[in-house]
Amino acid sequence: MALDAQLRRALAERIRYYNELGIYDFYRRSGPADEPSLADSAKDLFRSSDTPHLAGDSARAKLIQPEEREDMTRRAAVARRVRDENIFEVAADKPEYSVADPAKALKIIREDLGDCTRCVLHKQGRKQIVFGVGSPRAELMFIGEAPGADEDQQGEPFVGRAGQLLNNMIKAMGLQREDVYIANIIKCRPPGNRTPEREECETCSPFLMRQVAAIKPKVIVALGAVAAKTLLAINAPMAELRGHWYEFKPTGVRSDDPSWRGAKLAVTYHPAFLLRDPRQKKEAWKDLQMVMRELGLKPPARVAE
Ligand code: SF4
Repeated sequence: MALDAQLRRALAERIRYYNELGIYDFYRRSGPADEPSLADSAKDLFRSSDTPHLAGDSARAKLIQPEEREDMTRRAAVARRVRDENIFEVAADKPEYSVADPAKALKIIREDLGDCTRCVLHKQGRKQIVFGVGSPRAELMFIGEAPGADEDQQGEPFVGRAGQLLNNMIKAMGLQREDVYIANIIKCRPPGNRTPEREECETCSPFLMRQVAAIKPKVIVALGAVAAKTLLAINAPMAELRGHWYEFKPTGVRSDDPSWRGAKLAVTYHPAFLLRDPRQKKEAWKDLQMVMRELGLKPPARVAE
């Protein structure tokens, strides 16, 4: 279909903006009609014959300190740096600080979010806010990009085909979906499942930071480039972001537990990307194995097919 000149210019401008952020790979999140078979994808990823040995990748797991992130950013030769903008800064005390129970804290954060109209996404066709789901005491947290059509419909993150794949990834780690906490950088579906704008991430992510501080996970897995780059404020390709540990402390918030000094963060591919490029599933499995070693998890003898 031919695009008119104005639309072409707008698209070029949008792509340039994401390129400046270091995002070059574009994919469509869970949609209702046009994705590959879930059964094929899940089998491919979780067949035990596909499972590399746990000890094989220990050399990849290196803790990235903030100074090294700077190096990575420079090496990526990307123009814009979002770190300087301190996008998560939230100065005031939060109402959940008065409670120690993470479930209650999450409830307070949800109430504070309300029927949010803080960014333009509230008037661009969202059906509902997708806050997050899972155990308030989870040691492991997965953070994706934004709700898709199924998530918008059901009010829960990762419930479409990509969600099914994420469930299988969690099972392959020897966990259940209920054991972890799952959320996204932004809580409302962008129209047409487009990649979130920077302003939308900046406006919405402080609530995610409060969720992280309330849950106090040991490990966070950033799913995909947008989540990784927003959480870490690093402009680097996925190939560089993956395979390392990062110290992550949500800024602008504090935890009720002074012994919690933040989470370790790993980066892997977004499940929607894996559905579109199943060859990368083995790489994603390596990332998850790194996480399993950190959490002391052993894979089940034979994972679900
Ligand atoms: S995306 Fe976040 S900030 Fe924007 S309207 Fe939804 S809940 Fe509010």
